[in-house]
Amino acid sequence: MLRISELKLPLDHTPEELADAVASFLKAPADDVRGFTVFKRSYDARKGVMSLVYIIDVDVANEDKLFARFKGDRRVMPTPDTNYYYVGQAPAQLKQRPVVVGFGPCGIFAALILAQMGFKPIVLERGKEVRQRTKDTWGLWRKSELNTESNVQYGEGGAGTFSDGKLYSQIKDPRHLGRKVLTEFVKAGAPEEILYLARPHIGTFRLVSMVENMRAEIIELGGEIRFEQRVDDLILDGDRVRGVKLADGGEVLSDHVVLALGHSARDTFQMLEKRGVYMEAKPFSVGVRIEHPQSLIDAARWGKYAGHPLLGAADYKLVHHAGNGRAVYSFCMCPGGTVVAATSEEKRVVTNGMSQYSRNERNANSGFVVSISPEVDYPGGPLAGLDFQRELESKAYELGGGDYFAPAQLLGDFMAGKASTQLGEVEPSYKPGVTMTDLARILPDFCVEAMREAIPHFARQIRGYDLHDAVLTGLETRTSSPLRITRGDDGQSLNIKGLFPAGEGAGYAGGILSAGVDGIKVAEAVAKAMLGQ
Ligand code: FAD
Repeated sequence: MLRISELKLPLDHTPEELADAVASFLKAPADDVRGFTVFKRSYDARKGVMSLVYIIDVDVANEDKLFARFKGDRRVMPTPDTNYYYVGQAPAQLKQRPVVVGFGPCGIFAALILAQMGFKPIVLERGKEVRQRTKDTWGLWRKSELNTESNVQYGEGGAGTFSDGKLYSQIKDPRHLGRKVLTEFVKAGAPEEILYLARPHIGTFRLVSMVENMRAEIIELGGEIRFEQRVDDLILDGDRVRGVKLADGGEVLSDHVVLALGHSARDTFQMLEKRGVYMEAKPFSVGVRIEHPQSLIDAARWGKYAGHPLLGAADYKLVHHAGNGRAVYSFCMCPGGTVVAATSEEKRVVTNGMSQYSRNERNANSGFVVSISPEVDYPGGPLAGLDFQRELESKAYELGGGDYFAPAQLLGDFMAGKASTQLGEVEPSYKPGVTMTDLARILPDFCVEAMREAIPHFARQIRGYDLHDAVLTGLETRTSSPLRITRGDDGQSLNIKGLFPAGEGAGYAGGILSAGVDGIKVAEAVAKAMLGQ
């Protein structure tokens, strides 16, 4: 197979035109092209003309001769092997079973790959199975009732379950592990298009049933998933882990424990620190969610092509390096989605965003956040970032007026430095509701300064971004983990053997795809350790 890239066609081309373009690009007789598949499809909107840009894998006769003709042309190369190869297989008589703590994307992939290699993992997840969890999560949004063990952050599927389900990442992936993640998602019910769209997403509802299907496969392969099993302690033997203790007093013994905790397991981080597990503080970002009418973003991004079914609701990605040294950027943009209440702790308010596959809600939302770092903003050790987050989230709860209402402000008022008293043309989507106020009262001054500076820059890229009535809802405090549970090349904690920190909570992923990829990596590390490789 040959891979050709940068094949550009008009937005409304026919399938036949694509086939013709492939043959004419290769200057091969049409009969020599035995077939082709789309590896990636993206778009190019430069110079006001919207085109689709393809990477195509072509099965073609006389491949070697043809390839030689394109020598030196970086648009043509042999199709790389993107298949996944297991690092080993568990011997049938193996008694030891690995434990995976947490069943978010990282824990799911760690458990799935271990199960596929025959290791029969035991998964311990503090939250509930996904359908029950969905009800609990809606309890906060509809009735202001928070279940601290079953919510947007905790439960089957992890933090990304109620999300936009964006499935792209900027990680380096020379082994094509991201492809394995996407392939497993398709097997579990995701639309095939995620394999070839440049910026695929699956939305919330599909994620729920996919997670159930992946759970079923792990169980079928001999794994176990135990819900409502919170790990409260480690069983240590010197510098070796021997198992975990559960909140209900039970114990699960294992010499191989994966910690796929996510970034919100603050109580578990505290326990790990008490147990002396090596951790270090790391940078993250804080800010607010910003909501615009989706039609404004579509018009700014797609122009006359807005509304075209192949393009869908437009997204954006913005960055500004502010004069005070801070990076201001858009985070986790959710086209046609809603802002969600994402706290896992009582009397705290945290925002995030989600959408359905259709992305057809009236507002676009994204995090509008500012970088912070341990050296300057929260010195004092690995857990200092947690205190910093908690303080901001408590202030947001108070300013929201209680009952998990979030403080909100019109962008125009934020820019003018005055409190908002009423909404304008944009109706905020956050539930249970918002209280109009002055967000500068609780955001650190350097954030306010950097955000105000960034807005005109962003408006130059997205016309209308500085809309007076755009709504800011706060606070966005959990953009990534505030700490890293550092591991060595063997995937194990720097000072506790047999402990495998992984995923977003350990500081090794940010997003569903990268957490899944890290789950695969850590499963491989566990397998190698168990096989003595
Ligand atoms: P998590 O998904 O956080 O999973 C950790 C799991 O561990 C949880 O289920 C938790 O209950 C469990 N756990 C924690 N402590 C314990 C314990 N002591 N004992 C037992 N179990 C424990 N990313 C994207 O790429 N695209 C998106 O569109 C997107 N949207 C998002 C929307 C929202 C609302 C949120 C909150 C996040 C979103 N993200 C998105 C981020 C993404 O969800 C995370 O990056 C990803 O889920 C991290 O995966 P993880 O497995 O490392 O951790």
